[in-house]
Amino acid sequence: MSATTSASSTSSRIADQLAGRFKGEVIGPDHPGYEQARLVWNAMIDRRPGLILRCADTSDVVAAVDVAREHGLAPAVRCGGHNVAGKAMSDGGLTIDLSGLREVIVDPARKLVYAGGGCLLGNVDAATAPHRLIVPAGIMSETGVAGLALGGGIGWFSRKHGLTCDNFVSLELVLASGEVIEVSETSHPDLFWALRGGGGNFGIVTRFTFRGYDFGPMMRIGVSVYEPEHAAEALRAYAAMVPALPRTVGWHAALKHDMPALPFVPPQYVGRRLLMLVSMWLDDASDDMGAATIDQLTEIGTPCIKATTLLPFAAGVQRLIDTEFEDGHRYYTKEAHVADLADGAIDKLVGFWRDMPMEGEVEIIGLGGAIGDVAEPDAAFSNRGYLLWLNFAMRWDDPALDPDYIARTRAIVADLAPWVGRGVYVNMLNFDEQDRVVEALGGAEKYARLGRVKAEYDPGNLFRMNYNIPPAPA
Ligand SMILES: Cc1cc2nc3c(=O)[nH]c(=O)nc-3n(C[C@H](O)[C@H](O)[C@H](O)COP(=O)(O)OP(=O)(O)OC[C@H]3O[C@@H](n4cnc5c(N)ncnc54)[C@H](O)[C@@H]3O)c2cc1C
Repeated sequence: MSATTSASSTSSRIADQLAGRFKGEVIGPDHPGYEQARLVWNAMIDRRPGLILRCADTSDVVAAVDVAREHGLAPAVRCGGHNVAGKAMSDGGLTIDLSGLREVIVDPARKLVYAGGGCLLGNVDAATAPHRLIVPAGIMSETGVAGLALGGGIGWFSRKHGLTCDNFVSLELVLASGEVIEVSETSHPDLFWALRGGGGNFGIVTRFTFRGYDFGPMMRIGVSVYEPEHAAEALRAYAAMVPALPRTVGWHAALKHDMPALPFVPPQYVGRRLLMLVSMWLDDASDDMGAATIDQLTEIGTPCIKATTLLPFAAGVQRLIDTEFEDGHRYYTKEAHVADLADGAIDKLVGFWRDMPMEGEVEIIGLGGAIGDVAEPDAAFSNRGYLLWLNFAMRWDDPALDPDYIARTRAIVADLAPWVGRGVYVNMLNFDEQDRVVEALGGAEKYARLGRVKAEYDPGNLFRMNYNIPPAPA
Protein backbone atom coordinates (compact mmCIF):
# COMPACT_ATOMS: atom_id res chain seq x y z
CA MET A 1 0.00 0.00 0.00
CA SER A 2 1.43 3.44 -0.95
CA ALA A 3 1.96 6.23 1.59
CA THR A 4 -0.76 8.29 -0.11
CA THR A 5 -3.29 5.44 0.11
CA SER A 6 -2.46 4.86 3.75
CA ALA A 7 -2.79 8.59 4.59
CA SER A 8 -6.12 8.79 2.85
CA SER A 9 -7.43 5.69 4.62
CA THR A 10 -6.36 7.20 7.98
CA SER A 11 -8.24 10.38 7.03
CA SER A 12 -11.38 8.47 6.17
CA ARG A 13 -11.15 6.42 9.40
CA ILE A 14 -10.88 9.67 11.38
CA ALA A 15 -13.81 11.18 9.48
CA ASP A 16 -15.89 8.05 10.25
CA GLN A 17 -14.87 8.17 13.91
CA LEU A 18 -15.96 11.79 14.23
CA ALA A 19 -19.25 11.38 12.35
CA GLY A 20 -22.20 12.30 14.53
CA ARG A 21 -20.18 13.89 17.33
CA PHE A 22 -18.14 16.61 15.61
CA LYS A 23 -20.11 19.83 15.22
CA GLY A 24 -17.60 21.65 13.03
CA GLU A 25 -16.41 20.75 9.53
CA VAL A 26 -14.25 17.82 8.50
CA ILE A 27 -12.38 19.10 5.44
CA GLY A 28 -10.53 16.55 3.34
CA PRO A 29 -8.97 17.02 -0.12
CA ASP A 30 -12.34 16.32 -1.79
CA HIS A 31 -14.19 18.98 0.19
CA PRO A 32 -15.16 22.08 -1.88
CA GLY A 33 -13.60 24.33 0.77
CA TYR A 34 -10.28 22.45 0.94
CA GLU A 35 -8.20 24.69 -1.35
CA GLN A 36 -9.22 27.79 0.61
CA ALA A 37 -8.91 26.13 4.01
CA ARG A 38 -5.30 25.05 3.42
CA LEU A 39 -4.08 28.59 2.63
CA VAL A 40 -2.14 30.59 5.19
CA TRP A 41 -0.85 34.18 5.10
CA ASN A 42 2.49 33.40 3.45
CA ALA A 43 2.08 32.13 -0.13
CA MET A 44 5.50 30.42 0.16
CA ILE A 45 3.73 27.82 2.31
CA ASP A 46 1.99 25.39 -0.02
CA ARG A 47 0.98 22.42 2.10
CA ARG A 48 -1.71 19.81 1.56
CA PRO A 49 -2.96 18.43 4.85
CA GLY A 50 -4.63 15.03 4.80
CA LEU A 51 -7.47 16.42 6.89
CA ILE A 52 -8.48 19.75 8.38
CA LEU A 53 -10.74 19.56 11.43
CA ARG A 54 -12.43 22.93 11.72
CA CYS A 55 -13.70 22.92 15.28
CA ALA A 56 -16.85 24.69 16.45
CA ASP A 57 -16.29 24.54 20.20
CA THR A 58 -14.15 23.11 22.98
CA SER A 59 -15.70 19.64 22.74
CA ASP A 60 -14.75 19.53 19.06
CA VAL A 61 -11.17 20.42 20.00
CA VAL A 62 -11.18 17.57 22.53
CA ALA A 63 -12.46 15.18 19.85
CA ALA A 64 -9.79 16.40 17.41
CA VAL A 65 -6.99 15.99 19.96
CA ASP A 66 -8.29 12.51 20.85
CA VAL A 67 -8.20 11.30 17.25
CA ALA A 68 -4.78 12.87 16.71
CA ARG A 69 -3.42 11.03 19.74
CA GLU A 70 -5.13 7.73 18.91
CA HIS A 71 -3.77 7.76 15.35
CA GLY A 72 -0.29 8.96 16.36
CA LEU A 73 -0.61 12.15 14.30
CA ALA A 74 1.07 15.32 15.54
CA PRO A 75 -1.51 17.99 14.70
CA ALA A 76 -0.72 21.43 13.32
CA VAL A 77 -2.87 24.03 15.09
CA ARG A 78 -4.28 26.99 13.21
CA CYS A 79 -5.62 30.23 14.61
CA GLY A 80 -4.96 33.21 12.32
CA GLY A 81 -2.50 31.46 9.98
CA HIS A 82 0.00 34.34 10.28
CA ASN A 83 3.02 32.32 11.38
CA VAL A 84 5.62 33.15 8.74
CA ALA A 85 7.04 29.62 8.71
CA GLY A 86 3.57 28.14 8.16
CA LYS A 87 3.44 26.30 11.48
CA ALA A 88 -0.37 26.30 11.27
CA MET A 89 -0.56 23.90 8.34
CA SER A 90 0.33 20.24 8.27
CA ASP A 91 1.69 18.63 5.10
CA GLY A 92 -0.12 15.35 4.64
CA GLY A 93 -1.22 15.10 8.28
CA LEU A 94 -3.83 16.68 10.50
CA THR A 95 -4.59 20.37 10.98
CA ILE A 96 -6.80 21.46 13.85
CA ASP A 97 -8.37 24.71 12.68
CA LEU A 98 -9.83 26.94 15.37
CA SER A 99 -11.52 29.49 13.15
CA GLY A 100 -14.91 28.36 14.49
CA LEU A 101 -13.95 29.60 17.97
CA ARG A 102 -14.18 33.35 17.51
CA GLU A 103 -16.64 34.39 20.19
CA VAL A 104 -15.59 37.35 22.35
CA ILE A 105 -17.43 38.27 25.55
CA VAL A 106 -16.62 41.46 27.43
CA ASP A 107 -17.32 42.00 31.10
CA PRO A 108 -16.96 45.79 31.26
CA ALA A 109 -17.52 46.00 35.01
CA ARG A 110 -14.58 43.70 35.79
CA LYS A 111 -12.61 44.75 32.70
CA LEU A 112 -12.26 41.15 31.63
CA VAL A 113 -12.30 39.97 28.02
CA TYR A 114 -13.05 36.32 27.14
CA ALA A 115 -11.80 35.44 23.64
CA GLY A 116 -12.16 32.12 21.81
CA GLY A 117 -8.94 30.33 20.85
CA GLY A 118 -9.46 31.03 17.13
CA CYS A 119 -10.01 34.80 17.37
CA LEU A 120 -8.28 37.32 15.19
CA LEU A 121 -7.19 40.60 16.77
CA GLY A 122 -9.99 42.36 14.86
CA ASN A 123 -12.60 40.16 16.59
CA VAL A 124 -11.33 41.25 20.00
CA ASP A 125 -11.02 44.93 19.05
CA ALA A 126 -14.54 45.01 17.60
CA ALA A 127 -15.98 43.55 20.80
CA THR A 128 -14.03 45.73 23.25
CA ALA A 129 -14.31 49.07 21.40
CA PRO A 130 -17.98 49.72 22.31
CA HIS A 131 -16.96 49.43 25.98
CA ARG A 132 -13.99 51.77 25.47
CA LEU A 133 -11.63 48.98 26.42
CA ILE A 134 -8.59 47.49 24.72
CA VAL A 135 -6.57 44.31 25.15
CA PRO A 136 -2.90 45.05 24.40
CA ALA A 137 -2.03 43.01 21.29
CA GLY A 138 -0.59 43.55 17.80
CA ILE A 139 -0.71 46.09 15.01
CA MET A 140 -3.15 44.74 12.45
CA SER A 141 -6.57 43.16 12.61
CA GLU A 142 -5.92 39.82 10.90
CA THR A 143 -3.24 38.31 13.10
CA GLY A 144 -4.46 35.41 15.24
CA VAL A 145 -4.79 36.15 18.95
CA ALA A 146 -3.62 32.70 20.04
CA GLY A 147 -0.36 32.42 18.10
CA LEU A 148 0.51 36.02 18.95
CA ALA A 149 -0.35 35.86 22.65
CA LEU A 150 1.21 32.47 23.39
CA GLY A 151 4.53 33.67 21.95
CA GLY A 152 4.37 37.03 23.78
CA GLY A 153 2.40 39.62 21.82
CA ILE A 154 3.85 43.04 21.05
CA GLY A 155 1.92 46.01 19.72
CA TRP A 156 0.96 49.67 20.06
CA PHE A 157 0.12 49.38 23.75
CA SER A 158 3.12 47.33 24.89
CA ARG A 159 4.98 50.30 26.35
CA LYS A 160 2.03 51.13 28.55
CA HIS A 161 0.50 47.76 29.42
CA GLY A 162 3.15 45.16 28.57
CA LEU A 163 2.86 42.11 26.36
CA THR A 164 -0.37 40.34 25.54
CA CYS A 165 0.82 37.35 27.60
CA ASP A 166 1.44 39.69 30.54
CA ASN A 167 -2.28 40.32 30.51
CA PHE A 168 -3.51 36.74 30.72
CA VAL A 169 -5.87 36.18 33.63
CA SER A 170 -6.54 32.56 32.75
CA LEU A 171 -6.67 30.13 29.83
CA GLU A 172 -8.91 27.17 29.06
CA LEU A 173 -6.57 24.52 27.69
CA VAL A 174 -7.14 21.16 26.02
CA LEU A 175 -4.23 18.92 26.98
CA ALA A 176 -2.74 16.13 24.85
CA SER A 177 -4.70 13.67 27.02
CA GLY A 178 -7.96 15.36 26.00
CA GLU A 179 -8.50 16.73 29.50
CA VAL A 180 -9.75 20.33 29.68
CA ILE A 181 -8.20 22.48 32.40
CA GLU A 182 -8.28 26.11 33.45
CA VAL A 183 -4.80 27.57 33.90
CA SER A 184 -4.01 30.70 35.89
CA GLU A 185 -1.52 32.07 38.37
CA THR A 186 -3.10 29.88 41.06
CA SER A 187 -4.22 26.87 39.01
CA HIS A 188 -1.28 25.00 37.41
CA PRO A 189 1.07 27.97 38.02
CA ASP A 190 4.05 26.35 36.29
CA LEU A 191 1.99 25.79 33.18
CA PHE A 192 0.71 29.39 33.36
CA TRP A 193 4.34 30.54 33.47
CA ALA A 194 5.15 28.38 30.42
CA LEU A 195 2.15 29.58 28.41
CA ARG A 196 3.39 33.15 28.75
CA GLY A 197 5.76 32.91 25.80
CA GLY A 198 6.26 29.17 25.31
CA GLY A 199 3.84 28.97 22.34
CA GLY A 200 1.60 26.08 21.36
CA ASN A 201 3.70 23.41 23.05
CA PHE A 202 1.47 22.60 25.99
CA GLY A 203 -2.01 22.15 24.56
CA ILE A 204 -4.68 23.98 22.61
CA VAL A 205 -6.12 27.13 24.15
CA THR A 206 -9.85 27.27 23.55
CA ARG A 207 -10.53 30.43 25.56
CA PHE A 208 -8.37 33.27 26.84
CA THR A 209 -9.38 35.56 29.69
CA PHE A 210 -7.53 38.86 29.30
CA ARG A 211 -7.30 41.98 31.42
CA GLY A 212 -8.74 44.92 29.49
CA TYR A 213 -7.83 48.58 29.89
CA ASP A 214 -9.77 51.80 29.47
CA PHE A 215 -9.03 53.40 26.14
CA GLY A 216 -10.66 55.24 23.28
CA PRO A 217 -12.53 55.03 21.15
CA MET A 218 -10.22 57.58 19.49
CA MET A 219 -6.44 57.46 19.33
CA ARG A 220 -4.17 60.44 18.63
CA ILE A 221 -1.58 59.58 16.05
CA GLY A 222 1.18 61.57 14.40
CA VAL A 223 2.91 60.80 11.14
CA SER A 224 6.02 62.25 9.51
CA VAL A 225 7.32 61.09 6.15
CA TYR A 226 10.81 61.54 4.67
CA GLU A 227 12.42 61.36 1.24
CA PRO A 228 15.37 58.92 1.07
CA GLU A 229 17.96 61.71 1.31
CA HIS A 230 16.52 62.81 4.65
CA ALA A 231 15.92 59.33 6.09
CA ALA A 232 19.21 58.88 7.96
CA GLU A 233 18.93 62.33 9.57
CA ALA A 234 15.39 61.53 10.78
CA LEU A 235 16.41 58.11 12.13
CA ARG A 236 19.33 59.63 14.05
CA ALA A 237 16.94 62.06 15.74
CA TYR A 238 14.50 59.19 16.38
CA ALA A 239 17.24 57.05 17.99
CA ALA A 240 18.29 59.95 20.18
CA MET A 241 14.76 60.69 21.43
CA VAL A 242 13.37 57.18 21.97
CA PRO A 243 15.06 56.52 25.35
CA ALA A 244 13.44 59.59 26.94
CA LEU A 245 9.86 58.99 25.78
CA PRO A 246 7.13 58.53 28.37
CA ARG A 247 5.27 55.21 28.46
CA THR A 248 2.22 56.93 27.06
CA VAL A 249 3.89 57.14 23.65
CA GLY A 250 4.54 54.43 21.09
CA TRP A 251 6.80 55.42 18.19
CA HIS A 252 7.68 53.25 15.23
CA ALA A 253 9.53 53.70 11.95
CA ALA A 254 8.95 52.01 8.60
CA LEU A 255 11.30 52.24 5.65
CA LYS A 256 8.73 51.53 2.95
CA HIS A 257 9.48 50.27 -0.51
CA ASP A 258 6.31 51.90 -1.79
CA MET A 259 4.14 54.27 0.21
CA PRO A 260 0.53 53.08 0.27
CA ALA A 261 -2.41 55.42 -0.33
CA LEU A 262 -3.04 56.16 3.34
CA PRO A 263 -5.52 58.96 4.13
CA PHE A 264 -2.84 61.55 4.93
CA VAL A 265 -0.60 60.80 1.93
CA PRO A 266 -0.93 63.25 -1.01
CA PRO A 267 -1.20 61.41 -4.36
CA GLN A 268 2.29 62.46 -5.54
CA TYR A 269 3.85 60.42 -2.73
CA VAL A 270 1.85 57.22 -3.22
CA GLY A 271 4.02 54.37 -4.51
CA ARG A 272 7.28 56.16 -3.59
CA ARG A 273 10.14 54.80 -1.48
CA LEU A 274 9.76 56.79 1.75
CA LEU A 275 10.46 56.57 5.47
CA MET A 276 7.40 56.91 7.70
CA LEU A 277 7.49 57.56 11.45
CA VAL A 278 4.25 56.89 13.33
CA SER A 279 3.68 58.00 16.90
CA MET A 280 0.70 57.16 19.07
CA TRP A 281 -0.55 58.68 22.28
CA LEU A 282 -1.60 55.75 24.44
CA ASP A 283 -3.76 57.80 26.78
CA ASP A 284 -6.75 60.14 26.50
CA ALA A 285 -6.81 61.47 22.93
CA SER A 286 -8.03 64.87 24.12
CA ASP A 287 -5.13 65.37 26.54
CA ASP A 288 -3.21 68.59 25.73
CA MET A 289 0.10 67.08 26.73
CA GLY A 290 -0.52 64.21 24.32
CA ALA A 291 -1.29 66.64 21.50
CA ALA A 292 1.89 68.62 22.20
CA THR A 293 4.07 65.50 22.45
CA ILE A 294 2.78 63.96 19.25
CA ASP A 295 3.12 67.29 17.39
CA GLN A 296 6.72 67.55 18.53
CA LEU A 297 7.54 64.04 17.30
CA THR A 298 6.21 64.80 13.80
CA GLU A 299 8.64 67.70 13.52
CA ILE A 300 11.97 65.93 13.75
CA GLY A 301 14.30 66.12 10.77
CA THR A 302 13.08 67.35 7.39
CA PRO A 303 9.72 65.70 6.66
CA CYS A 304 7.99 66.01 3.31
CA ILE A 305 4.63 65.19 4.94
CA LYS A 306 3.56 65.63 8.53
CA ALA A 307 0.14 65.16 10.02
CA THR A 308 -1.56 64.53 13.32
CA THR A 309 -5.02 63.10 13.52
CA LEU A 310 -7.53 61.29 15.68
CA LEU A 311 -8.63 57.88 14.43
CA PRO A 312 -10.93 55.28 15.97
CA PHE A 313 -8.50 52.68 17.32
CA ALA A 314 -10.34 49.47 16.45
CA ALA A 315 -11.87 50.47 13.12
CA GLY A 316 -9.05 52.76 11.98
CA VAL A 317 -5.58 52.36 13.45
CA GLN A 318 -5.70 48.56 13.65
CA ARG A 319 -6.69 48.29 10.00
CA LEU A 320 -4.23 50.79 8.52
CA ILE A 321 -1.75 48.17 7.31
CA ASP A 322 -4.11 45.24 6.67
CA THR A 323 -3.93 45.65 2.90
CA GLU A 324 -0.15 46.17 2.85
CA PHE A 325 0.32 42.76 4.46
CA GLU A 326 -2.64 40.94 3.01
CA ASP A 327 -2.67 37.16 2.57
CA GLY A 328 -1.41 35.51 -0.54
CA HIS A 329 1.98 37.12 -1.32
CA ARG A 330 5.37 35.53 -0.82
CA TYR A 331 6.83 36.82 2.44
CA TYR A 332 10.19 36.45 4.11
CA THR A 333 10.66 38.16 7.46
CA LYS A 334 13.53 38.42 9.89
CA GLU A 335 13.53 39.98 13.34
CA ALA A 336 16.51 41.32 15.33
CA HIS A 337 16.62 42.98 18.74
CA VAL A 338 18.53 46.26 18.53
CA ALA A 339 21.27 46.79 21.10
CA ASP A 340 22.29 50.18 19.72
CA LEU A 341 20.73 52.11 16.84
CA ALA A 342 24.05 53.84 16.25
CA ASP A 343 24.90 55.94 13.20
CA GLY A 344 26.67 53.01 11.54
CA ALA A 345 23.59 50.82 11.88
CA ILE A 346 21.35 53.56 10.49
CA ASP A 347 23.63 54.02 7.48
CA LYS A 348 23.55 50.28 6.73
CA LEU A 349 19.77 50.12 7.11
CA VAL A 350 19.14 53.11 4.89
CA GLY A 351 21.66 51.85 2.32
CA PHE A 352 19.90 48.47 2.18
CA TRP A 353 16.47 50.07 1.91
CA ARG A 354 17.41 52.51 -0.84
CA ASP A 355 18.48 49.60 -3.07
CA MET A 356 16.14 46.81 -2.03
CA PRO A 357 14.17 45.47 -5.01
CA MET A 358 11.62 43.59 -2.94
CA GLU A 359 8.41 45.19 -1.71
CA GLY A 360 7.48 45.45 1.95
CA GLU A 361 9.30 47.43 4.58
CA VAL A 362 12.01 47.51 7.21
CA GLU A 363 10.33 48.24 10.53
CA ILE A 364 11.88 49.72 13.64
CA ILE A 365 9.48 48.90 16.46
CA GLY A 366 9.62 51.05 19.60
CA LEU A 367 9.14 48.84 22.68
CA GLY A 368 10.53 48.97 26.22
CA GLY A 369 8.36 50.57 28.91
CA ALA A 370 6.05 48.15 30.71
CA ILE A 371 7.49 45.11 28.91
CA GLY A 372 10.49 45.40 31.21
CA ASP A 373 8.38 45.52 34.38
CA VAL A 374 8.20 41.72 34.41
CA ALA A 375 11.42 40.12 35.63
CA GLU A 376 13.05 37.68 33.17
CA PRO A 377 12.49 34.59 35.35
CA ASP A 378 8.78 35.34 35.85
CA ALA A 379 7.51 34.22 32.43
CA ALA A 380 8.69 32.07 29.54
CA PHE A 381 8.90 35.13 27.27
CA SER A 382 12.50 36.31 27.24
CA ASN A 383 14.93 39.08 26.34
CA ARG A 384 12.59 41.84 27.51
CA GLY A 385 15.11 44.65 27.89
CA TYR A 386 15.29 46.03 24.34
CA LEU A 387 13.90 49.45 23.45
CA LEU A 388 13.91 48.79 19.73
CA TRP A 389 13.34 45.76 17.54
CA LEU A 390 13.99 45.51 13.82
CA ASN A 391 11.76 43.55 11.51
CA PHE A 392 12.51 42.99 7.85
CA ALA A 393 9.08 42.29 6.33
CA MET A 394 9.83 41.54 2.69
CA ARG A 395 7.21 40.74 0.05
CA TRP A 396 7.13 39.64 -3.60
CA ASP A 397 5.11 37.38 -5.87
CA ASP A 398 7.45 35.59 -8.28
CA PRO A 399 8.80 32.30 -6.82
CA ALA A 400 11.89 32.59 -9.05
CA LEU A 401 13.00 35.55 -6.92
CA ASP A 402 12.98 33.59 -3.65
CA PRO A 403 16.69 32.69 -3.49
CA ASP A 404 17.95 36.19 -4.30
CA TYR A 405 15.53 38.06 -2.04
CA ILE A 406 15.98 35.70 0.90
CA ALA A 407 19.78 35.92 0.53
CA ARG A 408 19.65 39.74 0.48
CA THR A 409 17.58 39.84 3.66
CA ARG A 410 19.86 37.38 5.45
CA ALA A 411 22.91 39.37 4.34
CA ILE A 412 21.71 42.69 5.76
CA VAL A 413 20.83 41.10 9.10
CA ALA A 414 24.30 39.54 9.21
CA ASP A 415 25.82 42.94 8.37
CA LEU A 416 23.99 44.50 11.30
CA ALA A 417 25.48 42.02 13.79
CA PRO A 418 27.64 44.61 15.60
CA TRP A 419 24.50 46.48 16.66
CA VAL A 420 22.17 43.52 17.30
CA GLY A 421 21.52 42.15 20.78
CA ARG A 422 20.97 38.68 22.18
CA GLY A 423 17.75 36.81 21.55
CA VAL A 424 15.04 36.92 18.94
CA TYR A 425 11.23 37.00 19.02
CA VAL A 426 10.00 33.40 19.02
CA ASN A 427 6.89 34.40 17.05
CA MET A 428 8.99 35.72 14.21
CA LEU A 429 11.40 32.80 13.84
CA ASN A 430 11.46 31.81 10.21
CA PHE A 431 11.85 28.36 8.61
CA ASP A 432 15.64 28.78 8.57
CA GLU A 433 15.94 29.79 12.23
CA GLN A 434 14.58 26.73 14.00
CA ASP A 435 17.95 26.34 15.73
CA ARG A 436 17.35 29.63 17.56
CA VAL A 437 14.42 28.44 19.73
CA VAL A 438 16.61 28.06 22.85
CA GLU A 439 17.99 31.57 22.40
CA ALA A 440 14.49 32.97 21.78
CA LEU A 441 13.25 31.32 24.97
CA GLY A 442 15.95 32.82 27.15
CA GLY A 443 18.71 30.21 27.07
CA ALA A 444 19.43 26.73 28.37
CA GLU A 445 18.13 27.13 31.93
CA LYS A 446 14.72 28.48 31.00
CA TYR A 447 14.45 26.00 28.13
CA ALA A 448 15.15 23.15 30.55
CA ARG A 449 12.37 24.38 32.85
CA LEU A 450 10.02 24.60 29.87
CA GLY A 451 11.00 21.04 28.97
CA ARG A 452 10.02 19.86 32.45
CA VAL A 453 6.61 21.54 32.17
CA LYS A 454 6.21 19.96 28.74
CA ALA A 455 7.05 16.52 30.17
CA GLU A 456 4.31 16.92 32.76
CA TYR A 457 1.55 18.05 30.38
CA ASP A 458 2.52 16.59 26.98
CA PRO A 459 4.96 13.74 27.69
CA GLY A 460 4.51 12.20 24.23
CA ASN A 461 5.20 15.53 22.47
CA LEU A 462 1.89 15.38 20.59
CA PHE A 463 2.06 19.16 20.11
CA ARG A 464 5.32 19.40 18.20
CA MET A 465 4.31 21.22 15.02
CA ASN A 466 5.54 24.47 16.55
CA TYR A 467 8.76 25.97 17.90
CA ASN A 468 9.19 22.74 19.71
CA ILE A 469 10.25 22.19 23.28
CA PRO A 470 10.79 18.44 23.63
CA PRO A 471 9.71 16.92 26.95
CA ALA A 472 12.57 16.82 29.46
CA PRO A 473 11.69 14.63 32.44
CA ALA A 474 12.89 16.02 35.78
C1 LIG B 1 1.24 40.54 9.02
C2 LIG B 1 1.72 40.15 10.37
C3 LIG B 1 1.65 41.04 11.41
C4 LIG B 1 2.13 40.66 12.67
N1 LIG B 1 2.06 41.56 13.68
C5 LIG B 1 2.46 41.20 14.90
C6 LIG B 1 2.33 42.09 15.98
O1 LIG B 1 1.89 43.21 15.83
N2 LIG B 1 2.73 41.68 17.21
C7 LIG B 1 3.23 40.43 17.42
O2 LIG B 1 3.55 40.12 18.57
N3 LIG B 1 3.37 39.56 16.42
C8 LIG B 1 2.99 39.91 15.17
N4 LIG B 1 3.12 39.03 14.15
C9 LIG B 1 3.73 37.72 14.41
C10 LIG B 1 2.68 36.81 15.01
O3 LIG B 1 2.68 36.94 16.41
C11 LIG B 1 2.95 35.33 14.67
O4 LIG B 1 2.96 35.20 13.26
C12 LIG B 1 1.90 34.42 15.26
O5 LIG B 1 2.30 33.09 15.06
C13 LIG B 1 0.56 34.65 14.63
O6 LIG B 1 -0.44 33.97 15.30
P1 LIG B 1 -1.57 33.21 14.46
O7 LIG B 1 -2.55 32.71 15.43
O8 LIG B 1 -2.06 34.06 13.35
O9 LIG B 1 -0.68 32.06 13.87
P2 LIG B 1 -0.95 30.57 13.30
O10 LIG B 1 -0.10 30.53 12.10
O11 LIG B 1 -2.42 30.33 13.12
O12 LIG B 1 -0.44 29.70 14.47
C14 LIG B 1 0.92 29.71 14.82
C15 LIG B 1 1.18 28.70 15.91
O13 LIG B 1 0.54 29.15 17.10
C16 LIG B 1 0.08 28.05 17.85
N5 LIG B 1 -1.37 28.18 18.06
C17 LIG B 1 -2.26 28.84 17.30
N6 LIG B 1 -3.46 28.81 17.90
C18 LIG B 1 -3.32 28.13 19.07
C19 LIG B 1 -4.19 27.80 20.14
N7 LIG B 1 -5.46 28.23 20.15
N8 LIG B 1 -3.70 27.09 21.16
C20 LIG B 1 -2.39 26.69 21.19
N9 LIG B 1 -1.52 27.00 20.20
C21 LIG B 1 -1.99 27.71 19.16
C22 LIG B 1 0.42 26.80 17.10
O14 LIG B 1 1.64 26.28 17.57
C23 LIG B 1 0.61 27.31 15.68
O15 LIG B 1 1.46 26.50 14.98
C24 LIG B 1 2.65 39.36 12.88
C25 LIG B 1 2.70 38.46 11.82
C26 LIG B 1 2.24 38.85 10.59
C27 LIG B 1 2.31 37.88 9.47
